[in-house]
Amino acid sequence: MMKTIYLDNNATTQVAPEVVEVMLPYFHELYGNPSSMHSFGGQVAGKVREAREKVADLIGASPEEIIFTSCGTESDNTAILSALAAHLEKRHIVTSRVEHPAIKVLCSHLSKKGYRITELPVNGDGLLDMDQYERSLTPDTAVVSLMWANNETGVFFPVEKAAKMARERGILFHSDAVQAVGKIPISMMINDIDMLSLSGHKIHGPKGIGILYVRKGTKFSPFLVGGHQEKNRRGGTENIPSIIGLGKACEVAKLNLSTENTTVRRLRDRLENEILARVPECRINGDRVNRLPNTTNISFGFVEGESILLMMDEYGICASSGSACTSGSLQPSHVLRAMGVPFTMAHGSIRFSLSVYSREEEIDFVIAKIPPIIGRLRELSPFWKPDNQRAMS
Ligand code: PLP
Repeated sequence: MMKTIYLDNNATTQVAPEVVEVMLPYFHELYGNPSSMHSFGGQVAGKVREAREKVADLIGASPEEIIFTSCGTESDNTAILSALAAHLEKRHIVTSRVEHPAIKVLCSHLSKKGYRITELPVNGDGLLDMDQYERSLTPDTAVVSLMWANNETGVFFPVEKAAKMARERGILFHSDAVQAVGKIPISMMINDIDMLSLSGHKIHGPKGIGILYVRKGTKFSPFLVGGHQEKNRRGGTENIPSIIGLGKACEVAKLNLSTENTTVRRLRDRLENEILARVPECRINGDRVNRLPNTTNISFGFVEGESILLMMDEYGICASSGSACTSGSLQPSHVLRAMGVPFTMAHGSIRFSLSVYSREEEIDFVIAKIPPIIGRLRELSPFWKPDNQRAMS
């Protein structure tokens, strides 16, 4: 069987073997409900507490500030809706044009209900203009939601600085840190962020589990109401195996933080630099300094991302493209459009996202395969002429 070279870790990750191991007993041995009066269920409650402590430890929070949810999307939705419920008189939300649909689509729904949404633009490198951000904050602003790291480019927003500015004006601040947690150190002890989202399946934990961090003292209104779970902050019987798994994933992620910053970063840089050196007419999308160590978003001119993905798939290489095939037309992603990436370049964009499981020989293999793949596709393109190179430079 062909070996899979998995460079799509911003989409989802392999569950770490040690995570799977700790989860298994909770399906068939320790399957009790932590809310039960009997000790069979009760013993699980203690394990949930330990998992909560591990999650809190990864992000420098206290365990009481951690609410388990079903995914990053639920955490994002809960944060915004809770902030609006806390300030019913305020009708304005500040966010950015490059947020994940979990925020973007919710905000567009809210705009139909009469909320005013400011979607801050980004520059060509995917960065925010902080003066413009400051000007967007008004007495009517209920909440700001800015992502810590972009899922497509890896580019960071200065969320800690932005949160401080919001705090000074009495505005709640949420950050979608789904892509940042586990890849860079985060400490909620030293910032002013009120709410933070995290997702299990992006950090080698299971799918279907997330957390919402809510700073102590922040007015909170639950999204799912029902049982008294999570101290009445999120109804629904807890997903115990996944909670246990997420706790372990956070423990492992903490140990791997330095590997992300050294080995993973080095492999990503090598992949990127070799491709730039070997393939004409390609560019990196997003600021190359201010970004995650595992992500590179590369545009190849005169080819379509989808075709590159299909050809890479023949070699077992998994990545993502920055365009989505909707109703027969290839639309570049909202992120690349917001950055003003030229259409011809945005169509041929590929995101490679590495992990601590990525190996040197896998990167070598991809470096060897990409130039001929792009070369073959360009030969088929009516727009590609070798002298395009000069025409565009
Ligand atoms: N936010 C960001 C930045 C993401 O990348 C994702 C997943 O792709 C999500 C939110 C949604 O997370 P989940 O898949 O757990 O709902």
